[in-house]
Amino acid sequence: MAKLGRGNELIFRVAVSVPVYRLFDYLAPDNFEPAAIKAGIRLEVPFGKGKKIAFLVEVADYSELDSSKLKRVSRILDEKSLLRAKDLRLLHWASRYYHHPLGEVIGAAFPVALRQGKLAVVQTEKYYNLTESGKTVDANQLQRAPKQKSLLEKLQQEQLPLSETELSAWNKNWRPLVKPLLDKQLIQLAQPESKVMFAASLVRDDTLQLNPQQMSAVAAIKEGLGRFGVFLLEGITGSGKTEVYLQVIRAVLERGQQVLILLPEITLTPQLEERFGQRFAIAQCLSHSKLTDRERQAAWLKMQQGDCFIMLGTRSALFTPLKNPGLIILDEEHDVSFKQQEGFRFSARDVAVVRGKILNIPVLLGSATPSLESLHNVDKKHYCLLHLPERAGNAIEPVLQLLDIRNKPMQEGLSEQLIEEIKITLAKKEQVLLFLNRRGFAPTLICHGCGWVARCRRCDANLVIHYAEKMLRCHHCGHEQRLIAHCPACKTGELTALGLGTERVEKVLTELFADKTIIRLDRDSIQRKGSLEGYLQQINQGKVDIILGTQMLAKGHHFPNVTLVAILDVDSGLFSIDFRAAEKLAQMIVQVSGRAGRCEKPGKVIMQTRRPEHPLLTTLLRQDYRSFAKTALAERKEAGLPPFSHQILLRAQAVDAQMPQLFLQAIVELVRPCNKGHIQVLGPVAAPMARRAGLYRYQLLFQSAKRRELHKLFDDAVPEIEKLKQAKKVRWSLDVDPVDLY
Ligand code: ADP
Ligand code: ZN
Ligand code: ZN
Repeated sequence: MAKLGRGNELIFRVAVSVPVYRLFDYLAPDNFEPAAIKAGIRLEVPFGKGKKIAFLVEVADYSELDSSKLKRVSRILDEKSLLRAKDLRLLHWASRYYHHPLGEVIGAAFPVALRQGKLAVVQTEKYYNLTESGKTVDANQLQRAPKQKSLLEKLQQEQLPLSETELSAWNKNWRPLVKPLLDKQLIQLAQPESKVMFAASLVRDDTLQLNPQQMSAVAAIKEGLGRFGVFLLEGITGSGKTEVYLQVIRAVLERGQQVLILLPEITLTPQLEERFGQRFAIAQCLSHSKLTDRERQAAWLKMQQGDCFIMLGTRSALFTPLKNPGLIILDEEHDVSFKQQEGFRFSARDVAVVRGKILNIPVLLGSATPSLESLHNVDKKHYCLLHLPERAGNAIEPVLQLLDIRNKPMQEGLSEQLIEEIKITLAKKEQVLLFLNRRGFAPTLICHGCGWVARCRRCDANLVIHYAEKMLRCHHCGHEQRLIAHCPACKTGELTALGLGTERVEKVLTELFADKTIIRLDRDSIQRKGSLEGYLQQINQGKVDIILGTQMLAKGHHFPNVTLVAILDVDSGLFSIDFRAAEKLAQMIVQVSGRAGRCEKPGKVIMQTRRPEHPLLTTLLRQDYRSFAKTALAERKEAGLPPFSHQILLRAQAVDAQMPQLFLQAIVELVRPCNKGHIQVLGPVAAPMARRAGLYRYQLLFQSAKRRELHKLFDDAVPEIEKLKQAKKVRWSLDVDPVDLY
């Protein structure tokens, strides 16, 4: 029975950033201006024993609860909502689609500082430009004040208003120079928007002649500006995708609109930032997890206020409010880092598309190896495919080769033939890149006497040997212990390192190529801040001969002098139980290959394998990624797997071994009556790693060709699941469109 608030008081229905699905009712605060109360404003409310920040969802005139039980909002933080109505619509959609609590979803849209209740003080930057006389005056007239002269010259050179940040970047002590120049009426305060007004001088250097494919891609996207549409720009590394982005961004800026560019990795931002900086004469904002809370908040507010027009960021930047949105770009759209794997598990790619639809602007997805989902959307005519089939400029495509290593002598994962190829390349003063997606020295420590294996006490996993540090580490829970010298089981057997990690290959490389410089790039070697940047710089300055690394080498970095790329162990990717493994492997091979021969020098890519006839490898070799994708999509269709069906994965874990299974079994019973037979319920089964960090893990997979029915089931089931008595004894989570079933 609905009850009116005390004396017809208004009720504030709010979302709080906590992992519960329901909204909370509060009495309206004392003294507020009703006209100012809009959905999305931040409030402070009493919550449990303390206070929490809440987001206003709606103002109602009744509550299901007895108003005498309701507490009062303590404080209103925002005079007006920092989120626009369309952004809120997106967040409501995301909360429903991902079946995730609204408070946490809204919370995710804010930078940490604002989520915690910091006031949104917008520090608008001052801009300075030249007055008419400043433009024409001869700077030498300031001969006696050389510092003032240099500032004047700087502005004359730039011909654009400069912000305080830009001036600080130029010279830390610029401030005292401003006043005398203002007094002499050589410079003046400028409007930030006037930057964009200088459409002609927006771009520093734009002399590149696009090739015909680039031209038609740019034309198609430009034609699509101002309305929703999704473009998939497919092009091998070096085919000129980034150049297409730059030209399209220019067109968006000329319309006075903002661009949001998302990248899979923080480490790729400096590279792109530099390229954008060379092209555009306006400032860019960055948003990623290595920035301070303050910096992130400043960038967020700048985009929100419309003071900045370009934002480069990672996944979480997706929700940044835009005053004047024009375009969203996702580079390397196939990359799994666009999927958030914990908490609010969302796909930045899929949400970007919905955001584009709500904002009525185009979304541009780029990749050398588009995801099967996106290619399927092209087939269904939901996305428009733009193809750049060849390398731009003079760069030559690398040659892919399989190297059959069956029965061949190997030295720590390197065949003799490969070692020979490395020697030849180094003799030409060119660089070699070796790829092995496993860090550490070796993945297993085994006793040669009794077969004992070093296992993690808290996970179903082996401990990885980190030889240089004399440590054994679990890569799943972080547990570590000292490397032991004797078998704890039989006390006499010799302990042997089984398998291959980057550290082990590095060791043999330093023996084989003692006079060469070798760099290992993996998560262990780049732990120090800035070390990756340092390494990349050394590589590009030609100070490195051999680069050895994991996953992170496969992504976007440019190594112009690398002419030999070798994938040491493709076989381990060929036999996975994950139905996405083939797609991931094919993408990895093509991406790693893309690192070879970016300039005029031809490159070679060698894959060591014991399965040279494997169809995945031969298709990539004799045909291309697209042919592979076509076959893979046909197989998915045959098997009824995504993207031809939709999945929701329910995970549960607990210290108690039985509880997750009981909980999931109860859910199976719960949903049985609602299932009209269109939804397959698989499980509960133990997760492939059945125990991790001391918790037992089970999962339940829901799959259906009918997305709507699948979601309807969860709309109804989630409130009931929350009420299950076992729900309080496990940690459970929902993963909609999971990319990793494990
Ligand atoms: P991708 O993003 O697809 O890897 P880029 O846009 O980075 O490709 O282009 C690769 C290289 O080719 C860059 O050095 C770029 O400056 C150059 N390039 C791109 N388009 C052209 C073109 N039309 N003519 C000459 N060089 C080009
Ligand atoms: Zn032993
Ligand atoms: Zn562990």
